[in-house]
Amino acid sequence: MQKFLLAVASAVMMTQTALAHDAVIRAGYILDPETGTYATDQYILIDKGRIDDVGDWTDYDSDEDYIDLSEKYVLPGLLDAHVHLTGDSQVHGYKRLTRSTPRQAITGVRNASRTLDAGFTTVRNLGAAGYADIALMEAIEDGDVPGPRIIASGPSLGITGGHCDNNLLPAEYDVKADGVADGPWALRAKVRENKKYGARVIKFCATGGVLSKGTDVGAQQFAFEEMKAIVDEAHLNGLKVAAHAHGAKGIETAIKAGVDSIEHSSFITDSGIEAAKRKGVYLSMDVYNSDYILSEGAKAGMLEESLNKERRVGKIQRESFRRAVKAGAKMAFGSDAAVYPHGQNGHQFAYMVKWGMTPLQSIQAATINNADLFGMSADVGTIEIGKFADIIAVEEDPLENIHILKTVSFVMKNGEVHKK
Ligand SMILES: [Zn+2]
Repeated sequence: MQKFLLAVASAVMMTQTALAHDAVIRAGYILDPETGTYATDQYILIDKGRIDDVGDWTDYDSDEDYIDLSEKYVLPGLLDAHVHLTGDSQVHGYKRLTRSTPRQAITGVRNASRTLDAGFTTVRNLGAAGYADIALMEAIEDGDVPGPRIIASGPSLGITGGHCDNNLLPAEYDVKADGVADGPWALRAKVRENKKYGARVIKFCATGGVLSKGTDVGAQQFAFEEMKAIVDEAHLNGLKVAAHAHGAKGIETAIKAGVDSIEHSSFITDSGIEAAKRKGVYLSMDVYNSDYILSEGAKAGMLEESLNKERRVGKIQRESFRRAVKAGAKMAFGSDAAVYPHGQNGHQFAYMVKWGMTPLQSIQAATINNADLFGMSADVGTIEIGKFADIIAVEEDPLENIHILKTVSFVMKNGEVHKK
């Protein structure tokens, strides 16, 4: 009798699991970023935030309600390797001094939602004051506010007076950025501190930068020993390392120190590209935002010296991008959102195509390549059984019209519909 009851109970349970999915999607065309091919008229079954099954719609036999994307092009959620969600594109230069850390966190709430709206379901936040990015990451994970999955770095590590310091005020104000340290052991301590307060990736500044005061964009910052200490300590703690680097020497020194990605990579030489290839280092090149800096930067408070630096860097960076793509370097998709308005991340695809990628390569950068760089290939980057149900849709074939990725019309993250 007991056996019979158990059999009935399990039969009932099986019927329930067979019928009740958290969501069902009918997809017109699903892109496989690995091959650039489409599977047509498919079902996607979603359970507990993950993809439970994918197959031909004609084989799907159920009267469950479904989300109808049968006319649309369906892609995995996009990944951006370089954003600053707590930063505001209207607040640069001295204006930034008016923004408290709590205020920046609230800016981040707005920007997280805009980023997810744009189809970006996972991002690396590379640099934020006061661990505001980690607070935002936790609030999203707790379901308090909508936003992409965040891999947050906390404060960027940098030398005294470098790109990742705050150089806007004279000595009597005694202002320095949270991540400033000099010397290998002090930097190991900073890595440990960031890890302690929740960082999931380490960012450091290996050269000067465009938007900082008084730094030479081409000049190396940190000695090799300091970079090596950061990388070794981070890797010891299971954290990947992203190095901001424009100048050739800083890029090659950071690669030698063992970083996982070079951000910006503007003046990278052919030998730098070869070194990156040899060590499997990703190049994350923000080829979109230059136009925004030069047209809108002054209004947003960017310093005149920054605009001058950008006039020098932007064009060269795009030429370097073309050389790196041609040489077959590993390319990430990193946009540096906050320099330009959050939510325009998808505008970068067309620039990547203009500067040497095929549309498929640009999509690979923002899906499978970034998934690999993030150490998340098992969870994101393709629409496959077992991965997070991070799914987006657009109205046209992005391989034919890459501009369509500026206007993503459907966004699901973790099985929950954010935009439709
Ligand atoms: Zn940045």
